[in-house]
Amino acid sequence: MKKLIYILVFIITSCSTSQKVTQLSEQEKELESIKFPKPLHTTIENGAVKKAQFIYPFQRIKASLFCGGHEIALGTPKDGLATVYISSSRHKTEGNIWCEYRFKLGKVEKKIPVAKYSIVNANYPLRKLTVPKKYAKLSDEAIERWKRESAHMEKVYAEVITDHALFDSPFKKPLNSKITAKYGSKRLFNDMKHSWHSGIDFRARIGTKIPSANRGKVILARDHFFTGKTVIIDHGMGILTMYCHLSKFKVVEGDIIPKGGIIALSGNTGRSSGPHLHWGVRVNGHWVNGFTLLNEGI
Ligand SMILES: [Zn+2]
Repeated sequence: MKKLIYILVFIITSCSTSQKVTQLSEQEKELESIKFPKPLHTTIENGAVKKAQFIYPFQRIKASLFCGGHEIALGTPKDGLATVYISSSRHKTEGNIWCEYRFKLGKVEKKIPVAKYSIVNANYPLRKLTVPKKYAKLSDEAIERWKRESAHMEKVYAEVITDHALFDSPFKKPLNSKITAKYGSKRLFNDMKHSWHSGIDFRARIGTKIPSANRGKVILARDHFFTGKTVIIDHGMGILTMYCHLSKFKVVEGDIIPKGGIIALSGNTGRSSGPHLHWGVRVNGHWVNGFTLLNEGI
């Protein structure tokens, strides 16, 4: 009986080893047969998003895409092409962002460059703002609350949809009203705290209906210290939109909402210097200028 078990164990182990060897050589063979095109070279402004179609030449190899060290939502490549949304940090004002496919061949990690984006400085201006004291100098209680909320946000950001899009038409700006604060400006609160504006502010009197910029899933609908009543929508492909300082929610977390569906009423909650809608767009980990997303279509 013991002998039989030994034999069985031997057969099972040798089978799985030989399978691994074949798989590896097939991947190696595939890699040898691929002719990688010359990396694409283009430009991107800091704090922008650009849609791109990259050749995805792999069949058996499962590659991930990284740009500037960040993983980019690759969706599900079709007919040898991957549609991706490349974003750049507001704070990196010069140099290049390299995009590369990364995959493992056995224990070795391979990196294949696919595109180079040269950064063009958008030269965002400096703005001085005055806000109530409780927001300029935070109490211990406020700091604790802010930390809790930030930790929850990080969890939400880590779980975004990256393998498909929930939208099938271009993004639309949420309001047509006057822009009261542009994206990207450096800000000095009460001549003290430096910050920067990571979204676009639209004029909106309290109670204005706020539509979603595109189809997506509500992944956050909560009252936060700085951003007030806040909704975040996951559109897939690493793209999120955020709506802040709202007065009333019209959705709950988990809802799937169509493009243009009303998600909330605008307001003046959180750190806000008057009624308005703050609209944030986050693409693959960077808060970008939402207008650059509108320009990119789908
Ligand atoms: Zn704002």
